[in-house]
Amino acid sequence: MHYTGTVYRNPYAPPSPLLEITQGCSHNRCKFCNMYADVKFKPSPMEWIEEDLAEIASIYPETTRLQLLSADPFKLSFTRLNEICDLIHKYLPNIETMTMAARVDNVCDKSVEELKILRDNGIVELNLGAESGDDETLKSVNKGYGSKDILEQCDKLDKAGIRYWLTFLNGVGGKPLTEQHAVNSGKIFSQTNPMVVGTGGLVLFEGTGLLALYERGKFEPLSERGLMEELKLFIENLDYDGPFITHHTFSMDLNSPDFKSNKSKILKNLQYGIDNLDMDKLAEIRNNKRGL
Ligand code: SF4
Repeated sequence: MHYTGTVYRNPYAPPSPLLEITQGCSHNRCKFCNMYADVKFKPSPMEWIEEDLAEIASIYPETTRLQLLSADPFKLSFTRLNEICDLIHKYLPNIETMTMAARVDNVCDKSVEELKILRDNGIVELNLGAESGDDETLKSVNKGYGSKDILEQCDKLDKAGIRYWLTFLNGVGGKPLTEQHAVNSGKIFSQTNPMVVGTGGLVLFEGTGLLALYERGKFEPLSERGLMEELKLFIENLDYDGPFITHHTFSMDLNSPDFKSNKSKILKNLQYGIDNLDMDKLAEIRNNKRGL
């Protein structure tokens, strides 16, 4: 198999073989991310993709699900993605679900009609790392799009019938932006129709712009308690009906298959954590993380 640089699998998605169709990230400028720092974005050669499909077909000929790599393969043009889908069906005739991570702006150059064709050809699910619904927060970390883009592109995906996960990055605006990051993300996410809302907590990884800013005293990260309070505010402002997943470094089970009916219980559990967990221990766990 051809795998270049970081290989990231959504830990909450069902298991599936991984097929690299692009290398690196087309943006590669988010200030909190070091995942693809050393890899230049490019489409993988069709010959590589075909060789890897032959290998997958020799091991999992019956697979119905496939995750496409790398950071944002949905950046590829409609035509190229469609060709890759055709090749996938040739080698893996039982495939029903092709899924991949995507940036919100990967959707911009594709019409609803093109998105429908891609959906009918197997691309039925995207994992959108929105991170925030607050424009100032998105700008502060150089995300490369704003809240209006999130609403417009999610609407196109809804119309095309492509399902999407939406993620909130807890703490990414630091102390100065915490309230607006939480409130505006909750409000913007509430205007979309994700199949899953997921949240992760900020870690200042080596080589990131945020770590450099922090070391110069120009980024003020939230404490563990601050992160949990921000998450609480986000949840309070989130009106959504579907599964909710958090992958924080604290050991509390806030995940729920049905956010709407469990919202008050999730908030109660979170408040229990804020009042009772050992914040020093949580900070130690977070600081020891070396990657997602
Ligand atoms: S967070 Fe995603 S879009 Fe941003 S640089 Fe990292 S991989 Fe690329």
